[in-house]
Amino acid sequence: MDNKLLLIILDGVPWRNWERLFGNLEGWVDAGMAQKFRMRSVLPSISASCYASIHTGVTPQVHGCTGNGNVFRLEQPDIFSEVRKAGGVTGAVTHSFWSEFFNRAPFDYVRDIEYDEPESSTINHGRFHTMTGYGMANQMTPSDVDLFATLTMLCSKHRLNYGILHTCTLDSMGHRFFHESQEMDHACFVMDEMLAPFIPKWRAMGYEVMVTADHGQDARGHHGGRDPLQQEFALYYFGDAQASADVEVLHQLQLAPTVLSRLGAPIPETMKAEPFLS
Ligand SMILES: [Zn+2]
Repeated sequence: MDNKLLLIILDGVPWRNWERLFGNLEGWVDAGMAQKFRMRSVLPSISASCYASIHTGVTPQVHGCTGNGNVFRLEQPDIFSEVRKAGGVTGAVTHSFWSEFFNRAPFDYVRDIEYDEPESSTINHGRFHTMTGYGMANQMTPSDVDLFATLTMLCSKHRLNYGILHTCTLDSMGHRFFHESQEMDHACFVMDEMLAPFIPKWRAMGYEVMVTADHGQDARGHHGGRDPLQQEFALYYFGDAQASADVEVLHQLQLAPTVLSRLGAPIPETMKAEPFLS
């Protein structure tokens, strides 16, 4: 596999926050260096259910993850497994749910916190965090710059073809401070500034880059249901492909087959949605 792509998931960022607060990402769109799409999550618009759908391309009603309390090793083919079958190397810097869904469950803190498994049929290089003890007063999230740096390290050390990074910082901030607050404005601003220097670096290393969310949040910091604030978010794409159709709102199930098609990996027949780039 020659192609390379990084998927950056900023947890819980509603459509309106991207536009209002992510000046670097918006600036690259204005400069013609990125394309911006609107995307709608699956239902329920809950983190774990969305993570599972992002990578399998099937609905929660099919993969069976009904929420954060119901995490298990999924049965469907996913981005990691299909990249591996096509000869690519995979990596993940994410919440431990991703390891449980796509490699093994339950998560063993010592065995699974960090692994390099070149023969794995799914995740070759994993660096995880569990957020154990998470609550309103203590987010238990790592600094985002540490996560971006870890992904960059994996890319250069292990020549990943596909890497995913996921961070819960903004979801936790939204649950805590809601979306009409200085704290939330500042948190989005800091995220945009921390992420920005890495994007040209990753592009120079030969990666296409997608930056998006798993779901949005409404004014009270809630998500899970059908409200557009809860379900809709932006997706920024840095790469040479173009939108394959003029659609107002993409569906989250299109993400997995799109990533596989960009990497040149076959799309399994369980992923029925149309890729949105060509
Ligand atoms: Zn989430």
